[in-house]
Amino acid sequence: MARVTTQKTKTDRKCSMCGDLIPIGAEYRKTKPFRQTPRVACARCSNKASFAETNPKKRTVLEAQEAADDCISEAVVIEDLCAAVDSLCESAQDVKSEWEEQAENIPENFEEKRTEAEGAAEALESWIFDLESASCDIGEMQEEYDGIPEEKDGSDEDARTREDVVNDARDKAAEAVYALDM
Ligand SMILES: [Zn+2]
Repeated sequence: MARVTTQKTKTDRKCSMCGDLIPIGAEYRKTKPFRQTPRVACARCSNKASFAETNPKKRTVLEAQEAADDCISEAVVIEDLCAAVDSLCESAQDVKSEWEEQAENIPENFEEKRTEAEGAAEALESWIFDLESASCDIGEMQEEYDGIPEEKDGSDEDARTREDVVNDARDKAAEAVYALDM
């Protein structure tokens, strides 16, 4: 994690994360990871874990998780939830390949670095499996959804609604997003 400072801006700035304008006088957070370009965040983005993460691969994963989380909260149909999980899974696969490539290129005498890269690739592999199985389970919930009439007829108060099914699917998706143990 890089050091993060909070200050009030004297010029208009742009948030490195969402691209929004940070107007003069507004509070923003700044981080300057070693050998990387400084990043600034608006109040809304500065609490995101990806902001202060200095490892580019870990940051890619965090950003993909945050994007998936947003899609999952906004999803209204099961298809949207599957799409969010699938797209996160693709990002995870890309980052896993990058860690594997890095592990292969670490010289023999840097055992510790190699173990770290291999461990990260393995953690991602197991997460990818979780994401794939969650996407599959969520897809199967479509059948229950389709079996429920759009309008509740009121005869059975306790009957599950389409909304209940989508919310269960949402919980499952959200759980898979954060199932990564790295
Ligand atoms: Zn922002």
